[in-house]
Amino acid sequence: MKKIAVYPGSFDPITNGHMDIITRGLRMFDELIVLIAYNPNKKTLFSVSERLEMIREVIKDFNNVRVDSYDGLLVDFVRNVGANVILRGLRALSDFEYEFQLALINRRLNREIETVFLMTGYKWFYTSSTIINEAASLGGSVKGLVPDIVNQKMLEKYACKKERL
Ligand code: ADP
Repeated sequence: MKKIAVYPGSFDPITNGHMDIITRGLRMFDELIVLIAYNPNKKTLFSVSERLEMIREVIKDFNNVRVDSYDGLLVDFVRNVGANVILRGLRALSDFEYEFQLALINRRLNREIETVFLMTGYKWFYTSSTIINEAASLGGSVKGLVPDIVNQKMLEKYACKKERL
């Protein structure tokens, strides 16, 4: 049977830290689905369709990774696509408590589904979409922290925002 894992997150935008988890996740699973999961508590910089487009572009060379978006319950999506693993990345200690809660609630919601964690690559320990957005919004270069096409989209996005001010 094919081992399929779902890698959910906001991916606002996708970073090299996320890419590292995808690449390493592929060593364990036959197929990965990157899922833009709707989070009502997060105000995002990029729309879902912009994020879908960027992720499609950066995963285009992998034939066993696809991207989707979903605004319902994560465990329902996982079950509907025939997967039984949720893949998550762990960075600093600060991630731990939230990830722990999330894994437990998802397990309570569906006992057939397990959450698997990969430790971040040391290069990406401090990389988060939030911190990257903050740096970029103030004109800092985030080259090397995000895929090149994402860097380009961020430059365009913040140039547009500046024009509107
Ligand atoms: P964030 O906005 O914090 O970057 P996302 O919601 O997009 O996070 O993250 C999706 C998943 O990817 C989470 O499990 C998160 O811990 C993980 N992740 C995000 N950045 C990294 C990174 N630099 N290294 C490892 N895992 C990461």
